[in-house]
Amino acid sequence: MATVANAKRLVIKIGSALLVDRHSGQLRADWLRALVEDVARIRTRGTDVILVSSGSIALGRRLLGLPAEELSLEQSQAAAAVGQIQLARAYAEALATHGITAAQVLVTLEDSADRRRYLNSRATLEQLLRLGAVPIVNENDTVATDEIRYGDNDRMAAQVAVTAGADQLILLSDVDGFYTANPAHDPSAKRFDVIDAITPEIEAMAGEAGSGLSKGGMKTKLMAARTATAAGCDMAITEGSGLHPVRALEEGAPATWFTAQGDPQQKRKQWIAAMKPKGRFVVDAGAASALGRGSSLLPAGVVSVSGRFGRGDAVELADETGRALGQGLTRYDMADATRILGRRSAEIKELLGYPARGPLIHRDDMAI
Ligand code: GLU
Repeated sequence: MATVANAKRLVIKIGSALLVDRHSGQLRADWLRALVEDVARIRTRGTDVILVSSGSIALGRRLLGLPAEELSLEQSQAAAAVGQIQLARAYAEALATHGITAAQVLVTLEDSADRRRYLNSRATLEQLLRLGAVPIVNENDTVATDEIRYGDNDRMAAQVAVTAGADQLILLSDVDGFYTANPAHDPSAKRFDVIDAITPEIEAMAGEAGSGLSKGGMKTKLMAARTATAAGCDMAITEGSGLHPVRALEEGAPATWFTAQGDPQQKRKQWIAAMKPKGRFVVDAGAASALGRGSSLLPAGVVSVSGRFGRGDAVELADETGRALGQGLTRYDMADATRILGRRSAEIKELLGYPARGPLIHRDDMAI
């Protein structure tokens, strides 16, 4: 079974019901302070932490004096615009007391569906973590229309975990795990400690309902688990309303762990290898042996490019004798790749008119 202590990159999803008091609509500042203490402690072990936090709509609706009943889409979007400022500030202030910088990242469904945008979000998250910041991610509810919304942060958190190559995802929820039936209605319901495979039987056990403030029910949590585990990320559901919820989980609080299928790097490589290539890069002998040692592909090592590919598409890699080396996701489209091949990275800005996005293919985006 996974343990938080082993996480290299951890995504923690915080539900609205934990962060915002159901009755007063106010932020639970003491809870947030305790959560952030957990985050600061985990980071001292060298674990990267990304927070996916709900709560913007719950906070914003009170500030705007919106009614208690279900909001229209426009009302939710207005509430999110107002509440997100408060939410981000609360995290930034709480993290700052530990000398940690918060970064706000607002995403939409399109950011993961579109390969180019997916690569951009991945690179930005990577950069933020490298610079020591804690990304605070939420859905960009204000601009997302219904058709392009996740609508729930469970699935979004799983997608963030996949995008960031996280090896663990914790859903802090108002239930302490996944049950054989809804424990609120069925007293004989039993909680699973570990679920190794999401079978049709398991699926049938997930009901529809969510609680008052949060959008997701067990169904969205199960979908999140499917996404995360398939990409090599373990996922836990645990009850998070008490102070120090992550520490509690580490100390054995009830939870359900969904077991990852493989590890994130290996899964990502399989995913890349299985893509249909849109082009082909021929590399020189020096680059071919560097790729074999796990290096990124620089424009200088590329002899020719062919095909019709956009940024983020898969391309085949071959050496000058025609031997296939593998494939990878290109960071440049056909036109730009053609312009910079054989050139040094320092020349790219001049050639393209914008600063380099690093290598032509990053080593994390390659299956050799
Ligand atoms: N993005 C929404 C918010 O911040 C929450 C969605 C959810 O509860 O899962 O209010």
